[in-house]
Amino acid sequence: MKITVLAGDGIGVEVTREAVKVLRAVAGVFDLAIETDEQLIGGAGIREKGSPFPDETRAACLASDAVLLGAVGSPEFDDLLPENRPEIGLLNLRQALGGFANLRPSKAFPALIDSSPLRREIFEGTDLLIVRELLGGLYFGRPRAISETEAYNTMRYSVAEVERVARVAFEAARTRKQKVTSVDKANVLETSRLWRQTVERVAKDYPEIALEHLFVDACAMHLVTNPTRFDVVLTENLFGDILSDEAAVLTGSLGMLASATIGGAIDLYEPVHGSAPDIAGKNIANPLGAIASVAMLLRYTAKQPEAADAIERAIEKALEEGHRTADLTTDRENFAKTDELGELVARSATEFARKRANSRAV
Ligand code: NAD
Repeated sequence: MKITVLAGDGIGVEVTREAVKVLRAVAGVFDLAIETDEQLIGGAGIREKGSPFPDETRAACLASDAVLLGAVGSPEFDDLLPENRPEIGLLNLRQALGGFANLRPSKAFPALIDSSPLRREIFEGTDLLIVRELLGGLYFGRPRAISETEAYNTMRYSVAEVERVARVAFEAARTRKQKVTSVDKANVLETSRLWRQTVERVAKDYPEIALEHLFVDACAMHLVTNPTRFDVVLTENLFGDILSDEAAVLTGSLGMLASATIGGAIDLYEPVHGSAPDIAGKNIANPLGAIASVAMLLRYTAKQPEAADAIERAIEKALEEGHRTADLTTDRENFAKTDELGELVARSATEFARKRANSRAV
């Protein structure tokens, strides 16, 4: 596999270094040939090449199997016009890769349950994946306009757009707890009725997967009152934007969250957080979101679920053993540094991977 690595700015550089370390460690055990190509994006691209998304970066990304991104954004460029700032690099990247399905897992790590805003008994056992349609719906629909006295947007979906993202959700459910919750507003919106009909048709190809439909308002409520009822949550762009942030905060720390954008020319993996200029360069950022993004890459693009499992188990083990970066503890003296936690996870993921590889050989 050829992976373009775009560390970007701020803590993007620090967490991506650890993620690549873990990827290499696990790939070594399973004999996966992985070639990485580091390129510039964001502020780093502006500084060295005069562009937040240099042509070389675009070409490298389009010639790879997957892209691993750190984060973009730097206060140094705050005075630039919005169209020239580092963040544009990320928008250009997403457009170039063209992914239509955004996947965001949200999980209750036993060791971190008390960091959640939810009560332990509600959050314990939560393990869900939001699959959000990313290229359609209200954000892109035309016509759209604003005048002095009114404004409007158009929510539009085609059967093909719904079908392709629904397949991503059902395929993901196959490797998880075999359940899809499709979220819409079919009591009010025509787009939602089309969404529901299409999802039901796709579901016929996946008889082993349980399908339920929920209205978006009910889903928002269930996410905070009964999150363990969910496995894969499939939804359109606007609803997914809101629900994925709601699900994200349940876990307690932004630094833990991974994401994937798949279905386009090239798959993109990135932690959910930004470049965190307030803690950049101090070796104190939490690398687990970036490391978990690599696990997603192995699961969804490389189709190596055992390698992905090894990384996810190593993350859990590190937390269970009490290793915490500064964002996960109130102890201001004793906490794990970014590179220490990365090293630890790499070592333990290697052990898990070896055990799995050996049992396969037997
Ligand atoms: P942020 O996610 O960078 O930081 C928000 C807060 O969370 C900060 O206090 C930060 O220290 C903390 N934090 C974030 N990630 C962490 C980690 N891994 N470990 C420990 N603490 C962590 O969001 P922001 O401060 O609003 O934005 C900073 C810059 O990042 C801006 O330039 C913004 O445009 C950019 N940004 C980029 C992305 C991206 O690249 N995907 C996403 C969001 C923001």
